[in-house]
Amino acid sequence: MKLVVKILKNLPFRCSQCGKRYKQKANLNRHLRYECGIVPKYKCPYCSHMTKRKFSLKMHIGVVHNVVVDCDSIQ
Ligand SMILES: [Zn+2]
Ligand SMILES: [Zn+2]
Repeated sequence: MKLVVKILKNLPFRCSQCGKRYKQKANLNRHLRYECGIVPKYKCPYCSHMTKRKFSLKMHIGVVHNVVVDCDSIQ
Protein backbone atom coordinates (compact mmCIF):
# COMPACT_ATOMS: atom_id res chain seq x y z
CA MET A 1 0.00 0.00 0.00
CA LYS A 2 1.66 3.16 -1.23
CA LEU A 3 -0.52 5.34 0.92
CA VAL A 4 0.62 3.69 4.15
CA VAL A 5 4.27 4.17 3.29
CA LYS A 6 3.64 7.80 2.51
CA ILE A 7 1.84 8.36 5.79
CA LEU A 8 4.68 6.81 7.79
CA LYS A 9 7.23 8.94 5.99
CA ASN A 10 5.26 12.03 6.77
CA LEU A 11 5.02 11.18 10.43
CA PRO A 12 8.57 11.46 11.70
CA PHE A 13 7.71 11.97 15.37
CA ARG A 14 7.17 8.71 17.15
CA CYS A 15 6.04 8.25 20.71
CA SER A 16 8.67 6.21 22.50
CA GLN A 17 6.08 4.79 24.89
CA CYS A 18 3.39 3.46 22.58
CA GLY A 19 4.74 3.90 19.06
CA LYS A 20 2.08 6.27 17.78
CA ARG A 21 3.34 8.55 15.05
CA TYR A 22 2.81 12.24 14.50
CA LYS A 23 3.51 14.75 11.81
CA GLN A 24 4.38 17.55 14.16
CA LYS A 25 6.31 17.63 17.38
CA ALA A 26 3.54 19.68 18.98
CA ASN A 27 1.10 16.86 18.29
CA LEU A 28 3.43 14.34 19.85
CA ASN A 29 3.79 16.58 22.89
CA ARG A 30 0.02 16.88 23.14
CA HIS A 31 -0.25 13.11 22.88
CA LEU A 32 2.30 12.65 25.65
CA ARG A 33 0.52 15.14 27.88
CA TYR A 34 -3.09 14.19 27.31
CA GLU A 35 -3.25 10.75 25.76
CA CYS A 36 -0.31 8.47 26.31
CA GLY A 37 -0.71 6.23 29.32
CA ILE A 38 -3.99 7.86 30.27
CA VAL A 39 -6.79 5.43 30.99
CA PRO A 40 -9.90 5.94 28.88
CA LYS A 41 -12.58 7.48 31.05
CA TYR A 42 -15.41 8.33 28.74
CA LYS A 43 -17.71 5.41 28.08
CA CYS A 44 -20.20 5.21 25.26
CA PRO A 45 -23.73 4.91 26.66
CA TYR A 46 -24.75 2.74 23.70
CA CYS A 47 -21.98 0.14 23.66
CA SER A 48 -18.81 -0.82 25.53
CA HIS A 49 -16.58 1.62 23.64
CA MET A 50 -14.30 3.67 25.88
CA THR A 51 -12.29 6.73 24.97
CA LYS A 52 -9.93 9.21 26.56
CA ARG A 53 -11.48 12.29 25.12
CA LYS A 54 -14.98 13.71 25.05
CA PHE A 55 -14.51 14.75 21.48
CA SER A 56 -13.68 11.28 20.25
CA LEU A 57 -16.62 9.83 22.16
CA LYS A 58 -18.85 12.37 20.49
CA MET A 59 -17.41 11.33 17.13
CA HIS A 60 -17.89 7.67 17.95
CA ILE A 61 -21.53 8.13 18.97
CA GLY A 62 -22.21 10.17 15.85
CA VAL A 63 -20.55 7.74 13.44
CA VAL A 64 -21.41 4.39 15.01
CA HIS A 65 -24.77 5.09 16.60
CA ASN A 66 -25.97 7.93 14.44
CA VAL A 67 -26.79 10.08 17.43
CA VAL A 68 -25.76 13.69 17.81
CA VAL A 69 -24.67 14.47 21.35
CA ASP A 70 -23.69 17.64 23.07
CA CYS A 71 -20.16 17.47 24.44
CA ASP A 72 -21.38 19.04 27.68
CA SER A 73 -23.83 16.23 28.26
CA ILE A 74 -21.00 13.68 28.37
CA GLN A 75 -19.87 13.05 31.92
ZN1 LIG B 1 2.28 7.29 23.30
ZN1 LIG C 1 -20.79 3.12 21.15
